[in-house]
Amino acid sequence: QDDKFKKVISHAKEYGYVFQSSEIYDGLSAVYDYAQNGAELKKNIRDYWWKAMVQMNENIVGIDAAIFMHPTTWKASGHVDAFNDPLIDNKDSKKRYRADVLIEDYCAKIEAKIDKEVAKAAKRFGDAFNKEEFLSTNGRVLGYQEKINSTLSRMAKSLENEDLDDVKALIEELEIADPLTGSKNWTDVKQFNLMFGTKLGASADSAMDLYLRPETAQGIFVNFLNVQKTSRLKIPFGIAQTGKAFRNEIVARQFIFRMREFEQMEMQFFIKPGTQKEWYKHWKEARLKWHLSLGMGEDNYRFHDHEKLAHYADAAADIEFKFPFGFKELEGIHSRTDFDLKAHEEYSGKKLQYFDHEDNASYTPYVLETSIGLDRMFLAVFSNSLQEEELENGTTRTVLKLPSVLAPVKAAILPLIKRDGLPEVAREIVDELKWDFNVIYDEKDAVGRRYRRQDANGTPFCITVDHDTLEDNTVTIRHRDSMEQQRVKIEDLRAIIKQEVDV
Ligand code: ATP
Repeated sequence: QDDKFKKVISHAKEYGYVFQSSEIYDGLSAVYDYAQNGAELKKNIRDYWWKAMVQMNENIVGIDAAIFMHPTTWKASGHVDAFNDPLIDNKDSKKRYRADVLIEDYCAKIEAKIDKEVAKAAKRFGDAFNKEEFLSTNGRVLGYQEKINSTLSRMAKSLENEDLDDVKALIEELEIADPLTGSKNWTDVKQFNLMFGTKLGASADSAMDLYLRPETAQGIFVNFLNVQKTSRLKIPFGIAQTGKAFRNEIVARQFIFRMREFEQMEMQFFIKPGTQKEWYKHWKEARLKWHLSLGMGEDNYRFHDHEKLAHYADAAADIEFKFPFGFKELEGIHSRTDFDLKAHEEYSGKKLQYFDHEDNASYTPYVLETSIGLDRMFLAVFSNSLQEEELENGTTRTVLKLPSVLAPVKAAILPLIKRDGLPEVAREIVDELKWDFNVIYDEKDAVGRRYRRQDANGTPFCITVDHDTLEDNTVTIRHRDSMEQQRVKIEDLRAIIKQEVDV
């Protein structure tokens, strides 16, 4: 699994998807740049989300709020007081870790052991193997499961009670070692605020302390009434937004899974108090459906319903995805009640209420939130798509089976050879198709090598112009996943590509 993750990271670099930020200065930890293909993939994911949330729902509108917000925002939201992570340092290596992540990683290792037992038993029993039954009856697996459950629930309880000594005790009891050096010499656990601070204004005395927003949601809450009044939307309605967020995360080599500067895609859905249960269910289902529509495999997703709830929530679940390092949170669905709007009313002294004509009464709406990390979604799509296939002739090919709708380049146009007028015809096809799709022209190397290059780049179609093209205006179109080739008319290309890449 570690190997797979390393391959993902090196492939992302080699094919122009993700670079370490400021690499020539040896990089900046947990900050990344999206390269020529990465920027396209990221934009396509963002557009796919925006289309599903804003364009397809007549009661959801999108906004783009500023990253800087009035500092009182973060008092009202609770981030000044409560946006803390428990940290622990290793005395020998001087490395700093999130205590809860160390404990979760310990549990993930036990979970990997369960997976191994399952794989072993599946092999032994063949068709007769029943996974559900095995998981609920096998003694060793049940022991592992019990260990995970008791560890996680003790951690959750200690964190909730802010009993940081017990978090440290747990790390020591489990004999968790520094992942880099193996040392078990830990300091006490301390809380650490994750917000980045900065200053607004020139002179030292009048400058105002600001934070870079740690989530996009608050930009929506403070604009709730402005949007409602100008859009004249009636409850239930939603406000969606995508944008950068910043957290001073303590990270241990997680690539773009956990970054210090990242992008969120959030939607706050404003509802009548008392209807939160049905909307919670609705949005859980709707969001899972969105993920499944990309065809990345049902087995790669699962819900994790939270038992321990944040101070603002009355129900919360994560959609977890099977990353190369195991199932981890990809998206959160939170029933936030009226916590945020009420807090902003209190701190601003302004009413943030909705007048319901049907009930002839005003109330502060409840909120259902869906919140997904764009970069994390990028990692999910990219890592799941990267595959190595054994071919019939005994060779292997590296292929990036990105969902076509998300692929950075939809088609590569290739003249079979660099003369006899073939490049000119290929260029004409590029000029024709580029109005509708991102396409590229490639004439370098033998055509087989060019196919492989496009496979690794995730391009769904290769279109080859050969000598027959000059006679009958047909080309060969090759499909990335099946490697099948068809002879088609140039004039049909647009429709063929459109059918595959349109949602
Ligand atoms: P985690 O427990 O992994 O730190 P979280 O529960 O703090 O995440 P939320 O505050 O609910 O996350 O944020 C919503 C989404 O934003 C997450 O599901 C995740 O996809 C994304 N996200 C949060 N923090 C980061 C980060 N540091 N880097 C990349 N994506 C992030």
